[in-house]
Amino acid sequence: MKLIILGAPGSGKGTSAMVLREKYSLAHISTGDIFRSNIKNGTPLGLEAKSYIDKGQLVPDSITIGMVEARLKEADCANGYILDGFPRTIAQAEALDEMLARSGDKIDAVISIVVDDQIITDRVTSRRVCEKCGASFNVKYKPTKVEGVCDICGGKVVQRADDNEETVAARLKTYYENTKPLIDFYQAKGLIVEGDNNVDSDSCIRSIEEGLKALG
Ligand code: ADP
Ligand code: ZN
Repeated sequence: MKLIILGAPGSGKGTSAMVLREKYSLAHISTGDIFRSNIKNGTPLGLEAKSYIDKGQLVPDSITIGMVEARLKEADCANGYILDGFPRTIAQAEALDEMLARSGDKIDAVISIVVDDQIITDRVTSRRVCEKCGASFNVKYKPTKVEGVCDICGGKVVQRADDNEETVAARLKTYYENTKPLIDFYQAKGLIVEGDNNVDSDSCIRSIEEGLKALG
């Protein structure tokens, strides 16, 4: 199964993606995670991406598309994957279609995570993430058992550099201008499955699974 997950920053798409990865044995491809690990390791790609990420802007397609294309060729993608954070522009979506067409593949479903706007800023600014496994926590709503330590893998839990109020506002603007149009793009192809994440992640996952079954 090949899935895309779309949603505003802080909508919980990363958390849902990690659950779906386990359920369907998929590779989880988070472009944000790939950029962050490059930044952490001080690679040239990381250095370049950081200047955009810190401002809440998109990393240029010229960097992002090639990076994803290389990732999709890795062995763990052969049995299916969930793309989290890509595509984020119509140009990226078209590039993805072309990449897949070349290998006779296609996307099976596009999950759209729905959350009210007011909830987002609040959730993102109190979010914390594990540097090692990528799990998300929240100092207000889902604290770790031991402060700063991941419940799942024992890794260090930190606040992302771009999870401050100012950058979140810029990321939301970027989302509405560039990424939200993708919902119509994929709706036209009959691929959208909605996940309502206003209440909690369990009910969100349930609505996604029902939607996936209905798509067949
Ligand atoms: P979120 O969805 O919470 O903003 P991500 O971890 O998906 O977080 O992305 C963090 C940042 O990485 C984005 O704000 C953007 O700068 C960059 N980024 C991630 N994916 C892409 C992409 N497909 N195209 C361009 N930039 C991206
Ligand atoms: Zn962890």
